[in-house]
Amino acid sequence: MYPVIKINLQSIKKNAQFLNELCASKGVDVAAVTKVVCANPDIAKELLNAGIPMLADSRMQNIVKLRNAGIEAPLMLLRIPMLTEIAQLVDYVDYCLISENQTLKEIVEKKGKKETKFIFMVDVGDLREGVWYENAQEEIDKALDIAGEMLVGLGTNLGCFGGVIPSPENNQRLLDIANGYKFDIISTGNTAALPLIENNTLPSGVNHFRLGESIMLGTDATGSRKVPGTSQDTFTLECEVIECDKKPSIPIGKTGRDAFGGSPQFEDKGWRRRVILGIGGQDIDPTGLFPLNECMTVLHASSDHTIVDVTNCEQKYKVGDVIRFRLSYSALLRGMTSQYVFKEFMV
Ligand SMILES: *Cc1c(COP(=O)(O)O)cnc(C)c1O
Repeated sequence: MYPVIKINLQSIKKNAQFLNELCASKGVDVAAVTKVVCANPDIAKELLNAGIPMLADSRMQNIVKLRNAGIEAPLMLLRIPMLTEIAQLVDYVDYCLISENQTLKEIVEKKGKKETKFIFMVDVGDLREGVWYENAQEEIDKALDIAGEMLVGLGTNLGCFGGVIPSPENNQRLLDIANGYKFDIISTGNTAALPLIENNTLPSGVNHFRLGESIMLGTDATGSRKVPGTSQDTFTLECEVIECDKKPSIPIGKTGRDAFGGSPQFEDKGWRRRVILGIGGQDIDPTGLFPLNECMTVLHASSDHTIVDVTNCEQKYKVGDVIRFRLSYSALLRGMTSQYVFKEFMV
């Protein structure tokens, strides 16, 4: 059945092993981030088989899913919690990223099955979650009053909203704050921070990274690169051709907006051979589809149709043929989330 995402567990495991060892060699523990695969338990178990000591996810539902799948490894909740999640949080979460003392207080006051530990998030420039670094000390002091020894670390996140690249300087900003305390965990890295480990410029004191994209895809979107030592053959999307035709490259008639309110631009390349695939924007980010066969280019996707230009391909595609893609992070995220995309493990 199509469309299908074929999952290469062995390749994911190798990426996890490689990155876990690379980070360990610099004294950095890794939490493997499962949100891009919706916390698929088979993938999660393979990450643990690879030697990864901790799993992390941004969604409460995914944390519950991992626990209910029998996973006993420590679980970290990455997204700072909603007040309405606290009742579940205290029963399921081992490590919780936090940035609001009001939320912290409500969690601490709510007793659950878990002795949840906290990592206070500090914003050193990317402008997503965390208390602004210049005001951090006051907030952390308050957090210590509330949580006491359950506040075990400081963290930061970079490369996500502002696209700020992790550097020795912005990592040092967090360490300077941490110096005033005795915390066990200093968690700065996501995939975008791996260059600091690769070229030995991570300031000493950082001892925890949360890695998703580099393990799952072998890529680093912020640095727009492949991560050296990893492979990119972890996921393959296969789609079925539902129409093959020759059409002009420019629409005929007065044009408005497309299905999603966008204003597509067209370049006149004459008549083109194109195929339509039975997959669309509901299932995939069309800008993140990379054909294995490089002769083709993805033109556009509406909700349920994706149009691919195959004029430059030697193969003459016909209805029923299958076309394969590698995926960007956003395309994988949407594909794994879509209930209309089948998932299959490669053997
Ligand atoms: C998603 C997420 C990560 C993982 O980032 P990658 O770029 O996929 O490695 C790390 N930390 C937090 C807080 C996240 O939300």
